[in-house]
Amino acid sequence: MISIKGTVQGVGFRPFIYRTAVGMGLAGHVLNTGDGVLIEAEGREENLQSFIERIKSDHPPLARVQEMSIDPISPRSTIGFSIAESKASLQADTQISPDIAPCNECIAEFLDPKDRRHLYPFINCTNCGPRYTIIESLPYDRAKTTMKEFTMCDECAAEYKNPADRRFHAQPDACAECGPRLEFHRWSLACPEQSRRVAGRSSDPLADTIAAIENGGIVAIKGVGGFHLACDATNTEAVTKLRSRKKRDEKPFAIMVGDIETARKLCYISEIEEELLESPQRPIVILKKRDNPPISDAVAPGNRNLGLMLPSSPLHYLLFEHPLLLCKEGLGEVDHKDLPHPVPPLTKGRGCESRVPHPASRVFVMTSGNISDEPIAYENDEAVKRLSGIADAFLLHNRDIRRRVDDSIARMISGSPIIIRRARGYVPTPLRLAFKMPRVLALGADLKGAICLTKGHNAFLSQHLGDLENELAHCAFEDAIEHMKRILDIRPEIIACDMHPDYFSTRYAYSRVTGHPSTLLGAGGSRIAVIQHHHAHIASCMAENDLPNEEVIGIALDGMGYGTDGTIWGGEILIADYKGFKRAAHFRPVPMPGGDAAAKEPWRMAVSYLSRVTRHASRENLNSTFFRNIDNKSIQLVEQMVEKGFNCPMTSSCGRLFDAVAAIIGLRTVNTFEGQAAIELEQIVDENEDGCYEFGTRDPRPETRNYDSKTLLEIDFGPTFVAIVEEVSQEIAHSTISARFHNTLVEALARTCLTIQFHKSLSVSRVSGPGSRICLSGGCFQNALLTTRLKKRLEDEGFKVYTHSLVPPNDGGIALGQAVVATHKTREA
Ligand code: ZN
Ligand code: ZN
Ligand code: FE
Repeated sequence: MISIKGTVQGVGFRPFIYRTAVGMGLAGHVLNTGDGVLIEAEGREENLQSFIERIKSDHPPLARVQEMSIDPISPRSTIGFSIAESKASLQADTQISPDIAPCNECIAEFLDPKDRRHLYPFINCTNCGPRYTIIESLPYDRAKTTMKEFTMCDECAAEYKNPADRRFHAQPDACAECGPRLEFHRWSLACPEQSRRVAGRSSDPLADTIAAIENGGIVAIKGVGGFHLACDATNTEAVTKLRSRKKRDEKPFAIMVGDIETARKLCYISEIEEELLESPQRPIVILKKRDNPPISDAVAPGNRNLGLMLPSSPLHYLLFEHPLLLCKEGLGEVDHKDLPHPVPPLTKGRGCESRVPHPASRVFVMTSGNISDEPIAYENDEAVKRLSGIADAFLLHNRDIRRRVDDSIARMISGSPIIIRRARGYVPTPLRLAFKMPRVLALGADLKGAICLTKGHNAFLSQHLGDLENELAHCAFEDAIEHMKRILDIRPEIIACDMHPDYFSTRYAYSRVTGHPSTLLGAGGSRIAVIQHHHAHIASCMAENDLPNEEVIGIALDGMGYGTDGTIWGGEILIADYKGFKRAAHFRPVPMPGGDAAAKEPWRMAVSYLSRVTRHASRENLNSTFFRNIDNKSIQLVEQMVEKGFNCPMTSSCGRLFDAVAAIIGLRTVNTFEGQAAIELEQIVDENEDGCYEFGTRDPRPETRNYDSKTLLEIDFGPTFVAIVEEVSQEIAHSTISARFHNTLVEALARTCLTIQFHKSLSVSRVSGPGSRICLSGGCFQNALLTTRLKKRLEDEGFKVYTHSLVPPNDGGIALGQAVVATHKTREA
C-alpha cells in the first residue's frame, strides 16, 4: 500500500498511476483520499520496485509529491488495475494546483485544424489549465468550480470518464460545443450606459479584439485571474492614451508577445530567463531592453528594462495565432476595418487550414485591468463598470473567475531567478518547512499585501493582494483570507501581524479579537502575535532557505518598517533566529521631512541628508542640478522642518537613502511610483566603476539605547554625502557616482557584519567563525547590482549568504516570516 501526500489531485496523478501500473502488469487500484492518493498494487517484486521508482521520477509535471509512505500488505489476488471511488476523509489535506499555462500536448491539439479543439480558447487537460482561480470550495470537483455552469457534451464526458485519457477527471475540461465562449463588446466612451444596451455579440470576438487593438484601441481582456488592458505596444498614441486613462504616469507596462523569437527582438534573454518565460507559471520576466526595440518609448519610459511575458492561456495564444492574422500576409496590407464580416469562425478552423500557423510578431501591452493602484478587476459586470472609462472594448467570456490573481513577476538576480510578485502560477503551492507549525494566519504588511496560512509543515503564501492603502484592496484582502481559509480548511489559532499601529492589516488583526487586546484571545480562540517588520523579513528568508532555528546575521534593507522604538526602520542589521532578534546595527537615523511625503518626493530626503552634513544646506553651497529643479521656497520650508524637527519622523530607511542620492545628483526629485528613484539610480550604474566613498561607523551613545552597547552600531553615510556633493560640483558622471554609492553601501554593510561577527565571537555565539550565515531580505534586494555585489563581498569574507527565490524579498514575502516567528514565539509561551 502506497500513500502519497502533496499536490496529487487534479493534476492527472491517478491516470498516470493507472497507466504505469497497467503497463507493468500490476493489479490493484488507486484512489483519492481526503489527504492525498492511496495505491494498492500487487505483482512481481521487481515490477513493484520499479513502479515505485517511476512514481518518484515520472509523475505528472503539476504534481508535487511531498510524502510517500509504503506499507507492505498481503496480496489480495485482485485481477487488473482500476481507479476506485474517492474516499472522503474528514481531514482534508490535499493541495490545490496553481493556474498553469497550456501544456505542449494541448497546444499541439489547439494548433491542429483537424482536432475538435482547434483554436478553442479554453482548451485544457489534467496537466494544465485554470485551477486556483476557479475553485469555490473543496474537494476539488467540477461542481465546486465555476465550470459547474457547463454541462459536458458526450465527447467531453467520455474523455472525462476514461481513466486512460489525458483528460480523465480534468475538472475544467470543455470544448467549443459545451464549454465557455468569448464575447466582444464595443464600447462608446461618450455614452457607456447606452452602448451597454446596444452592445451585441460579435460573430468573431477574437478578430474584433485584434482589429480594435490594431486600430489603436484599448481592449479589456478577461484572462486567467482577472482582466488585462491591452493595446498595441508599437503605437505611442494608444500607449499614451492608456497611461492617461489608467492614471499611470511612468510606471512601466508589461508586454506580451507570441513567442520567444519575438521576445528576443526586444530584449536580451539568457538561457535561464528563457526557461523562466516558458515555464508553466509564465511570469512576467524583467529583462534588459535592446537598444531601440521596435516598441513605443511610452511603454517603459526611461527604463532600461522591460517586463515581458509569453501567452499564459490558450485565449492569449489566440491573440497571436488567430487565423485572421495568418491570412493577413496573403491579403496584403489590409486594414482590419475593411475586412468583410463574418471572418472565418475560429472553432471550425475554416479559411486557413492549409497554412502552418506561425506566431504573428505583434507586441501587446498587457497591463493589469485597474486604475492605478486598485485591485485588478475580475468579474464581468465589475470590470465593465470599473474599466469602461479606460477600455474602448471588452473581450469577455462566461467562465467566471472566483479568485482574482495578478500576473507574477520574476527577475534574475545574481544568477538566479527571484519572484518579485508572487501570484498566478505560484499560488497556492505551499512552501514546505522543516518544522511543524500551528495554524497561523499571518497578515503581512500594508504595501504589497499578501497573507500566509500555515498547517503542519506547509506555509501557504497568498497571491499579491495589492496595496492596502487603497480601500478597494481592503475587500480583496478580507475576501482572500476567507477564501484561503475555506479552500485550505484552516481555522487559525494564531493571528500574526505587523507592529505598525496604523496598518490596515494590524487593525484587522485586532478587530478579530474580542474583549481587551491584552487577553490576546480571538473570537475563534486565536491569539495575536505582533511581529517586528524586519525580523519578519529575515525570518522569511531563513524559512525559505530551510535554515534551522539558529542565530543568523540578517541584513534587512527596505523603504520602511515600524521599529520597536516607534521610529521608522529600514537599514537594519539584526542578529536573529526564528524566535527573537537584536538590532545589532542600523543606518544613522535622519529626519524624514513630511513623513510619507518624503517617500514620494526624494528631494526632501536630499535636503534632510544635506542639512546633516553641511551645516547650512543652502543652494549657494551646492551647484547641483537638484537645487535648480526645486523652487527655493520649498527647499527653505523643508530645511526649516528639518531644523525644528517639525513633522519629521526619524528614519534609518535604506530606500530613503537611495532617494536622497538620486535627488542630489539630479536624477529624480519626484517619484511617480514606489521606488522609482532607487530603480533609476541602479539602472544608470557604470558597472566597471569600483570606487567607493567614505562612511562612518560608530557606537551611538549607549545611555539612550536599551540594547547591548557593545554590538549596537550606527552606519553613518554623512561622509558619503560630503563626497557626493563634492563630486556633483565637479560634474563627475552620474553613472560613476551611482556606482560608487552602491559600492559604499556594500562596503559599509560588509564591514559592519565583520564587526558584529567579531563582537559575537567574544561572547558565546553560534554566529562566530567562518561560514556564519547571513540572510538578505527587504525590498532593496530587488536591486540586482546591490544584491550581487553584497553577496559576493560577504562570501569573499567567508560568510554563507542566503537570499530569496520563490518568496519575494519585498513586503510581499513578509507574511511567511510573521508566520514562522509567531510559531516559535508562541511555542513556549
Ligand atoms: Zn494540457
Ligand atoms: Zn465538450
Ligand atoms: Fe519591508
